[in-house]
Amino acid sequence: MPMPDLRPLTNLLAGRTITVLAGAGMSTESGIPDYGGLASRKRRTRIQYGDFVGEPAARQRYWARAAVGWRRVRAAEPNDGHRAVARLEAAECVVGVITQNVDGLHHQAGSRRVVELHGSLSRVVCLGCGSVVTRADVQQRLERLNPWIAASEAPHEPDGDAELADERVARFVVPECESCGGSLKPDVVFFGERVPKAVTEAAWQLYEEGEVLLVVGSSLAVFSGYRFVLQASKDGRPVAVLNLGPTRGDDRATVKVEGHAGAVLSSVAEQLAEAG
Ligand SMILES: [Zn+2]
Repeated sequence: MPMPDLRPLTNLLAGRTITVLAGAGMSTESGIPDYGGLASRKRRTRIQYGDFVGEPAARQRYWARAAVGWRRVRAAEPNDGHRAVARLEAAECVVGVITQNVDGLHHQAGSRRVVELHGSLSRVVCLGCGSVVTRADVQQRLERLNPWIAASEAPHEPDGDAELADERVARFVVPECESCGGSLKPDVVFFGERVPKAVTEAAWQLYEEGEVLLVVGSSLAVFSGYRFVLQASKDGRPVAVLNLGPTRGDDRATVKVEGHAGAVLSSVAEQLAEAG
């Protein structure tokens, strides 16, 4: 698509400290598809926290699909959008990033202050003893217990999940915590699960430090992100929205830009650097 007129956006951002609120659209150019959008059907079919905790079959289904889908997340690399945000932080224009993504790509791009609202797929937590291990370690155990994973191909979901035949799922062996034998859960926030208080507080801290809220690649369908836009609206703080397609925050946005995160943010970062 042609580059939209970015002057209103750069005029708004120039000379102001920026808090970035990032959604799935930030990572689509890294090959992680966006299942969101305001009218997503997928959203309702995803795993619920209560099911995961209460039903062994739900955990088996989750881990079977995630074991296959993980390879796409592991292979994903930051795109121009992530890199532009990291440059803007280094230049002290951006105070930090509040992200709804669980892919770790802001960290990989060099961003230092990142609040992962919905956790990170790079960590796995034991529901029994609370110990935390790396997903890389768990993946090795998953592949040892289920050697067919290495050879399988499956369509991928954005959270490292994949579609998989029922028979595969039924035969899948789920690893347990090596310390206590408890159930392992990715350190991400499932539907029906609360964002941990410490994470919420860290996100509000980043919000407070910015003079403008820049929403990138989110339809704001999920309240954990939308509430920052509501607060900015209450506080009389300007809000910029960069997204492909409509968002729930459009009527509260000072500036709305329809565009790809990578190209737009690269151009914005360049112009802000020139403006000094
Ligand atoms: Zn444990």
